[in-house]
Amino acid sequence: MAWVVGLTGGIGSGKTTVADRFAAKGIDIVDADVIAREVVKPGSQGLDAIVARFGALALNHDGSLARAWLRERVFSQPDDKQWLDDLLHPLIRTRMIQACADAQSQYCLLVVPLLVENNLMTLADRILVVDVDPATQITRTLARDQVSQQQVQAILAAQASRQQRLDVADDVIDNTHTEAELDRQVDALHHTYLTLATQANAGV
Ligand code: ATP
Repeated sequence: MAWVVGLTGGIGSGKTTVADRFAAKGIDIVDADVIAREVVKPGSQGLDAIVARFGALALNHDGSLARAWLRERVFSQPDDKQWLDDLLHPLIRTRMIQACADAQSQYCLLVVPLLVENNLMTLADRILVVDVDPATQITRTLARDQVSQQQVQAILAAQASRQQRLDVADDVIDNTHTEAELDRQVDALHHTYLTLATQANAGV
């Protein structure tokens, strides 16, 4: 069982950028977004349950999940949203725990965008928050994605607040500056995590 660092942050804060830096150091990454797609891939228990409830409307022609349709549906029907969360959250949680247990590196990085929102803090031995101010989140997301400022603002408002994330953090990366500055912080944290993981694995 690898020692687990949980990485979180709001939209456009730099989670992927940070995770890529740790991966380049040989650290295994477990990505909640990747797992969330795996649990509804064709042939999965998750997709079968969704089709049993919603019928073929929930499927694309190629048999994959019709994500846009389902998103609309759960947006307008709170009961369906609750049902879907009750179905998928335990599947995702179990797989994340398994993937962390399978990790081969000295510690593993569990990237969970909605760690705070879904109260998943106990999955990690240590919580790392990538922090930027909301204005920077909006600027960087608009530069990256084909979305409107209103859409980004709506997502930001639906997520945990900056302060709620900082309240659960053991460590914080300030990603408001250059990527070189980000590298310096990742290097220091990697060093700390190697030490902590070694101690934890030795039962200190
Ligand atoms: P999301 O939750 O929306 O998937 P994220 O938290 O994974 O986002 P990234 O995709 O890593 O965020 O970063 C958002 C954008 O900001 C990307 O285009 C990335 O290249 C850029 N970026 C990240 N860090 C910096 C930085 N220090 N300086 C400038 N641009 C940055």
